[in-house]
Amino acid sequence: MTYLVIDGARVVSAHRTLASARSAETQGLGHSTEAGPPVGGEPAWWTRKRHSSDTTELGILHTDATELGFRFELRACQAPAGTCTHRPCTTYATWAVSRYYRLLSDLAAFVPLSWIWVGQRSGDPRGDAPQFLTEGRALADRLTADMRHPLRVVEQPPADIRTLDDRVQAAHALVVRFLARHFGPSSDLEALVVIRPVLQGQDLHLRLDPSVPDGLPICGTASPGRSVDATRAELGARPCDRCFGRAPIVPSPVLTVAEYEAWTAYIHQSGS
Ligand SMILES: [Zn+2]
Ligand SMILES: [Zn+2]
Repeated sequence: MTYLVIDGARVVSAHRTLASARSAETQGLGHSTEAGPPVGGEPAWWTRKRHSSDTTELGILHTDATELGFRFELRACQAPAGTCTHRPCTTYATWAVSRYYRLLSDLAAFVPLSWIWVGQRSGDPRGDAPQFLTEGRALADRLTADMRHPLRVVEQPPADIRTLDDRVQAAHALVVRFLARHFGPSSDLEALVVIRPVLQGQDLHLRLDPSVPDGLPICGTASPGRSVDATRAELGARPCDRCFGRAPIVPSPVLTVAEYEAWTAYIHQSGS
């Protein structure tokens, strides 16, 4: 699956061909027409106009867009089943980040109320580590096989006497434990996020610290020159509309809860 249809930064379907992705888009989403930069000779993404406003959003993404910094996140709603009324959900937790859509999507199949988000952000390298990929693949394959009812000789007892519900619950628990082992709180990547203003020429951008290396600002503008640490009151500087939340960021970044909270708190500080 190479072409992903995106709605609100959330992957809604995966397709082998562009034509198939395009036809899935027409069902209420609208067409993506504006092509992004090429990766391997093909556009890395296409954007579509939002119905209600002049802004555009990510519409179709080529999975090779990870070359340009896109990452997938497995997110799961943390509200008790059936009680989440947020659209979109605001009580999610990010359980895994990776450049490999297929693996996250296969694991998400065993996690109720989960989905895959996509956006341009720095790599959390744990989801690209060979050990995570190998073990994750093996786990997803094993659990997928577990869900099938094997054919058996009538006279013999079944090899696996668990009901399908039991297997679903066991699979969920295994995936949760697996992801917790690889993305658990051993790392405090999300513990404390600080917003740092940086000056590129006369443009004042905002950078997340930690989680975005190389000083890449929230808007994703890569600086041709050096960016230097600054204060928000830098003399004569123009605050970047996108970093400061005054213009849409397309494609939208995927912010973790900690990042999002730090960012919104920062831009709402008095005097901005
Ligand atoms: Zn929710
Ligand atoms: Zn910016």
